[in-house]
Parts: sequence; C-alpha cells; structure tokens
Amino acid sequence: MAEAGSLADRVKQQADIVRVIGEYVRLKKSGQNFTGLCPFHGEKTPSFAVHPVKQIFHCFGCGKGGDVFTFVMEMEKCSFPEAVRIVAEKCGIAIPRPKERSPEERKENQQRAGLIEMHREVQSFFVKQRETTAEGRAARAYLEDRGLDADTIARFGIGYAPAGGDTLLRYLTPKYPEKLLVESGLVSRDQSGRLFDRFRRRITFPIANESGKIVAFGCRALGDDQPKYLNSPETPIYSKSNVLYHMDRAKEGIRRQDFAILVEGYMDAIAVARAGISNVVASCGTSLAEPQIKLLGRFTKRVIVNYDPDAAGQAATERSISLLLENDFEVKVLALPAIGDKKADPDLFIREKGAEAYIRALKESPPYVDYLIARAKQMDLTSGEGKLRAVNFLLPYVQKIPNRILRSEWATRISQQLRIDEPVLRAALSKAAAERRSEAKTQPELVGKPVKLIERRLIRMLAEAEGFRRELAQRLQQGRLYQGLESEKIFAALIVPALAEGPMSATEIGALLEERDRRVFFEILFEEAQEGSWEEAESCLEALRAKQIEQELAQVQREIESNPTAVAMRELLARKQELLKRRAAG
Ligand SMILES: [Zn+2]
Repeated sequence: MAEAGSLADRVKQQADIVRVIGEYVRLKKSGQNFTGLCPFHGEKTPSFAVHPVKQIFHCFGCGKGGDVFTFVMEMEKCSFPEAVRIVAEKCGIAIPRPKERSPEERKENQQRAGLIEMHREVQSFFVKQRETTAEGRAARAYLEDRGLDADTIARFGIGYAPAGGDTLLRYLTPKYPEKLLVESGLVSRDQSGRLFDRFRRRITFPIANESGKIVAFGCRALGDDQPKYLNSPETPIYSKSNVLYHMDRAKEGIRRQDFAILVEGYMDAIAVARAGISNVVASCGTSLAEPQIKLLGRFTKRVIVNYDPDAAGQAATERSISLLLENDFEVKVLALPAIGDKKADPDLFIREKGAEAYIRALKESPPYVDYLIARAKQMDLTSGEGKLRAVNFLLPYVQKIPNRILRSEWATRISQQLRIDEPVLRAALSKAAAERRSEAKTQPELVGKPVKLIERRLIRMLAEAEGFRRELAQRLQQGRLYQGLESEKIFAALIVPALAEGPMSATEIGALLEERDRRVFFEILFEEAQEGSWEEAESCLEALRAKQIEQELAQVQREIESNPTAVAMRELLARKQELLKRRAAG
C-alpha cells in the first residue's frame, strides 16, 4: 500500500487537475478558480469550482468535492488505483503496469489488446489493398470521382476490402487464433461453419475511439451491392452507441471553439473536415445515442445538427434535438438548401457550392426552435385538426425549455407563425410546463448554519499561511479558543498538521471530517479572499477571546443567580471579577 501511496502522490503532483477535469466539464476561468456546470447534479448555472493551485474541486450545489482522484473515481465509477492509472494516462505520466486482479480480467485485457492490435494491422492491410491492387485502384477512381484527393484518402486512412471473400482471412489466420478472428467481427462464419471476410468489395473507413485507437470499420459498397453501408458489429472493443466518428481528431477543435457540428455519416464528416472545419463528428447511423451525447458533453454543450434532409434525416434530427435538450445542450439546426432537384447533404453541398458557402450556412444556422416551427409550417394548417397536429408536434420540445421567458417567447412565435389563437396555445403550454415542473429534479439540500466570518478567516489562515500557521495553531490550542465554535471540528482537524508544520492536504483533512464539515471546509478554501496577515490573525484571535469571556461571564452570572452555597458564591464572584478585568484589558 505504501508503494501505491507514493505512486499516487507522484501522479497527483504532476497531474494538472484543471486539465483532467476539463476533459469532463467545460471550465471557465473565474478569478483564481475555474468554474463550470457540476457533472454530479443537474444545474443550469455553474456552482462547480476547481482550484488550480490547491488542486481540489468543490461543488457549492451538491457538496461533492475532493482532489483529482476523487473526481475521476466519481466520474468513472472506478476504484482508487484505477483512478490513479486513468489520471496518469491522461497526463502522460509513466506508471508501472498494474497487476490484473483476476484471471478473467487478465484474459479480457489480453483479448482487448489483441483486437486493437488486429485492427491496427487490418487497417494497414486495407490501405495496402487500395494502393497496390487493380481492384484497389478502381476504388480509388471512385473516391476521386467523389472529390476525394490522394491527400484526403491518406489523411483519413481510407482503404479497400477486396472482393475475394477470404483475402483478409488468409492474411490474419497465421497470426491470430480463430476465436479472436470471429470476436473481431471482421470475419464471419457461415452456416456450414466456414469462415469468410465480413467486408468484401468495399471502401473502408477506420473508426477510432476517442483516444485514436482503431476499433471498427465502416464500409461502403463499391458497386451496387447491398447494403450500401456495412459496419463492424458490436465487439469487445466497439459499441456503436459509445463512439462518434472523427471524435479523436475533433475534440481539440470542439473544446477550443466550444461547439460541435454533428453529421450523419463518415463521408459527411470527412467533407466538412476537409473544408477546414475540424470540430465535426458523425453519429454513424441515423440515431444519436445517450452515451454519444455524454461523450460530446465532455467537450462542449453546443451543437449544430446537420443531418441529411431526407425523411430519415429529419426524423433523426428531431430525435437528436430532444435528446440534446434533455442533456442541456444548446442546439442549432442546419438544413441545407436543395441543389437543383437534389436534396443536399454536407458532402454534396460542399462539393457543389464550396467550403465558404458551407461555413456561411453554418454561421447562419437557426436555433432549433425556428427549425421546428418551419417543420410544423409544412404540415397542413388549413383545418383545426391540422393545427392541433402541428401544436402537438411542437409541445414536447416546448416542454423541455426550462426558462419561463423563453417558453413565453415561443408561444408568441408559434401562434404568429402558425396562426393559432394565442390563448388556446398558452393554455396548452402552461399545461405542458406544469408537467415539466412535476418532473423537475429536487434541489440538493443546503449546508446547515453558516460559519462566521472570523472562523472562516482563521480556518483559511490555518490551512494556508505558511509563515505563521504554527504559531496560530499554538495560540488557538493554548486558549482552547475554538471550543464550542460552529466549526470546532474543522479547527481540531487542522491544528495537528499546522503544529507539525507538515504539508497540508485539503483532501486528507477533508477525510477526517464529517460530510457537513468537509463541505464547509472546502467552501472556505474556495472563497475569493486576500492572503491573511499575522495582524489579522491576532485580531481574529482577540475577537474569539472576547467572545469566550462573554460566554463565560454569562455562565458565571447564571450560576450566581441560581442560589449557590456561600463558598461557591465567593468563588463565582472572584471569577466574575477576574473575567471583567480581562474583558477591560482586551
Ligand atoms: Zn454538484
């Protein structure tokens, strides 16, 4: 355990908590801290703070707090050693290989590593097929026809899976056991038990996970083979609802620009990325899944949805809007105008109109509200029944708007645009809002009695004032000045390390405290405050001493009035005199 401790210490020292948490939460600099929306409870205004110097985080809403490991453990629902490993990995800190806990786990890890290695090799194989075979050259001609130049083909690792039926299988068989080949999904087994290549006569697009490791392939038929698109099945290293195509290369751009463009397929993502817009990802399939949204949400909360304009794309757009709104995203929708008689997807639009026109359209893309109203207007609005259908189409979205003023603006706009009687619509809306309220999450409970300013200042100095925290701790200790205070337990936890003048770890102190006190302590550490001085410390001590005298005087007075024996009375009066003298001296 000592070894693990020292490793954890080393990782913690080298890790940048802002960077690590920044991968999960969008953080903004605010004074000395960074703030963002708490990932542990639902909120609209940020009450989650990260302190870059103290290397701790704290949520003023739900009270969660701790160091970088606490954060990762909560976020990834993992153990402490696992959190240390994750943080080290994120920060590029080399750590000794962890011992696997069980034989099953070791087997699983080996299997995953084997599959990743296999995908890496298969990627080279597909690229080589595209480059060196006659079939591959035909595929290349097709790609060029779609406007993809050699640079792009290389940059996105586009390859070719030959028609043969077992070319890949023969290439892989000497290197991998049959079981792993089948598990990879790259090889299938027919009814007679014979193995064959899953992808034949197809253009291959490698699909990487968020950290850039190839985990699957998306393939497009070269000829008229059906289906037109065929992807890897779910495997131990790939789940399609967890992966966004191009995320590994888009994440920097998304974080920097604070928005993402969401398209349907890899050809669209490639077309947009080629146009110089790096912050694009594809859902690879028509419906966006919750884990994909969570992944995206670690980098931005703003999305422009640019799906295909066909019926399936529209349905997917509307489903995605709902899911994104539920996850507190700000959503815009880009519906590209038709080109001639063709409905335009991003790929076609950029090929025909150019990158600049696309960027312009992107900038002008309307909030989802306008998109939805436009969709509702396409419905038959001549009859009352038709209008009702249009309103029913819009209501579920309105229901998801948390802000009352925005909801009201919607109502006005919908009634104007659809020519619907406003009072009727408002009645429907307020009913929807009431339903929404009943679903609203309950607020996290609040911390009890507030701790007084003097106590807060002393706690802060005790934790941080390198120059005099030892002396401060001695004075507090000698006079028993913190006894009976609201924050007594926090003082008690701080005094020992302050007397020893050892390093002060907020998380370690926090671990000694009950939850309520730990929250108060973290809040104090996060307060924007001037550095304390010894003068200030002395005046705080003086105030505590005065308060102590007052309390004792009150106590003595109560005893005097409770009819004590003559002996006790003499002592009490003497004590009172002494206290009065001390009070006058202070
Ligand atoms: Zn919170």
